[in-house]
Amino acid sequence: MKYSELAELYERLDSTTKRLEKTYHLSEFLRKASADEIGAVILMVQGRVFPSFDERELGVANQHLIKAISSASGTPTATVEKEWAKTGDLGKVAELLVKWKKQSTLAAAELTVKKVFDNLRKLTELSGQGSVDRKLQLIAELLSSAKGQEARYVVRTILGQLRVGTGAGILRDAIAWAYFPKAVEKVFVNCSSCHKIIPPADNCVECGKELSKEAKKAAVTSAAEGEESAREEYNIILGKIQQAYDLTNDFGVVAKKAKTEGIKGLENVEIKAGTPIKVMLALKAETVEEALETAGRPAQCEYKYDGFRLECHRDKDKIWLYTRRLENVTNQFPDVVECLKKHVKGDNYIMDAEAVGFDPKTQKYVPFQNISQRIKRKYDIEKTAEELPVEVNVFDVLSYEGKSFIKEPFKKRRELIERIVSSTKRKIVVSKAITADKEPEIERFFKQAKADGTEGLMIKKLDAPYQPGARVGYMLKFKKVMENLDLAVVAAEWGEGKRAKWLSSYYLACNSEGKLLEIGKVSTGLKEKREEGLSFDEVTELLRPLIAEQQGRYVKVKPKIVLEVAYEEIQKSPTYESGYALRFPRIIRNRSEEKGVDDINTLEDVERLYKTQKKMKA
Ligand code: ATP
Repeated sequence: MKYSELAELYERLDSTTKRLEKTYHLSEFLRKASADEIGAVILMVQGRVFPSFDERELGVANQHLIKAISSASGTPTATVEKEWAKTGDLGKVAELLVKWKKQSTLAAAELTVKKVFDNLRKLTELSGQGSVDRKLQLIAELLSSAKGQEARYVVRTILGQLRVGTGAGILRDAIAWAYFPKAVEKVFVNCSSCHKIIPPADNCVECGKELSKEAKKAAVTSAAEGEESAREEYNIILGKIQQAYDLTNDFGVVAKKAKTEGIKGLENVEIKAGTPIKVMLALKAETVEEALETAGRPAQCEYKYDGFRLECHRDKDKIWLYTRRLENVTNQFPDVVECLKKHVKGDNYIMDAEAVGFDPKTQKYVPFQNISQRIKRKYDIEKTAEELPVEVNVFDVLSYEGKSFIKEPFKKRRELIERIVSSTKRKIVVSKAITADKEPEIERFFKQAKADGTEGLMIKKLDAPYQPGARVGYMLKFKKVMENLDLAVVAAEWGEGKRAKWLSSYYLACNSEGKLLEIGKVSTGLKEKREEGLSFDEVTELLRPLIAEQQGRYVKVKPKIVLEVAYEEIQKSPTYESGYALRFPRIIRNRSEEKGVDDINTLEDVERLYKTQKKMKA
């Protein structure tokens, strides 16, 4: 497939913000790609050449690109820099300069998607002496063959700045549209006159023109089968695609399965050590009784450790560790890697665990905040591992010796971890648990859990499978306190007086179906000195690059930073667009390492908490 076709697709995707139109363009393109090309195409429409969980990076700086553009276009670097200063966009600079050159030279070999993909991947394999020159050659080779538009997209991809708005939802839907057209046509058709994607009918709802014969046929089928069943069929397909994605985290793999093996292929996607799987999440229970209603009696009750989720993979000598957001943190935890090799039987597995920090002197658990810095640590790793050690608490197993266990009942998975993990205190242990069916026994275990420095209990359904990526009632967290909220910072204000150098108050928002709605402003909980904990200075540094607009002391920021906030009460309030406000909010910690804006608390959560609080007061 020619790269120019992909560049055309980027252009089309860029030209609309409408989700259905994007889905349509992408699906048409996917249909044309061969099974061998799909993997690369899907990654490249996301602006990457490795799946997001792969830690390899292209490692090309602006200055390298300037040199590559200069060499490919035969323009002095000073000119490239001058053009860059004008537009601030190296992609556009490459496009312009390559166009100038093309007018005076013969056409070079045509770029293919494979060529671009391969060259970009090769960039990550180069290191050491002479690697910068070799990288420049690989890029210049692409830019010399590229036409203007192609050069723009090659450069943006290299810089990680290709943003054509194809999020996970659009990719998932486009795979359905591309490979299951029959089910999709009953729900949507493409108008032959205005080319808008519309519900099937005699006439287009957008332009009013009569639809083509095929579209009408689809309308008849859809009416005959009833719109609801057509929707249901479509949703089932979306569900299967999502499920396959939750297991592989790579839409390339999913699309190839869908194209070559259809629904069966999606259903049979295998999990594999080394490829992270979306973790199963928990619901919240207000009382033990409520938890047992969902989990059934008896249920497994486990300590809820206050650390961070660690998905542990092993295949022979290779170990991978992933966070809840599926970031590869293997390099940051050499102590955990050693510990797994030493204390877990078997050389191929995927286990789910919580890593908890403890004080090396007192051996007591410490709150997550104390060890959170280990997750991002790039230097002094061994030393930090000694100062801030962690204990791995294994609570689930997803595959063992090549066999998937996710469909097996939890009881069987638990038996397996008890067999394979040799529990060694403050190194690796199987999570502390009892199986119980009576409230008083569970309440007693809860007290013991709190006394042992954990957050409370996880109450789990014994016969449940492992449901990746879902917040289902297979496990419930029971903490018995007014839940803190994880909220996104959407704006901030510069402080006054001695705080003038910091952004010292933050506007917080919850999520309502993808929209961020403000719920309050917080300025307490942070420290003035870094040594004392999360500081104004640190939060200011996190927010500074995200500033999008400034009016006096007030700044709007791109929503990326997630803060956990405690409060005394939730009140109804006309001041904020969510309709609620937090009384006495206080920042507890920065959760941006573990949670993105999509994972923050929702307006529904706030409404639920508001009601719970009313009940508690009554
Ligand atoms: P919270 O803020 O309450 O930790 P959350 O939104 O971060 O909630 P949830 O999935 O709702 O995450 O709560 C469950 C989390 O608790 C898991 O993601 C896991 O990291 C942690 N956890 C600690 N101990 C256990 C355990 N024994 N079994 C399962 N999860 C556990």
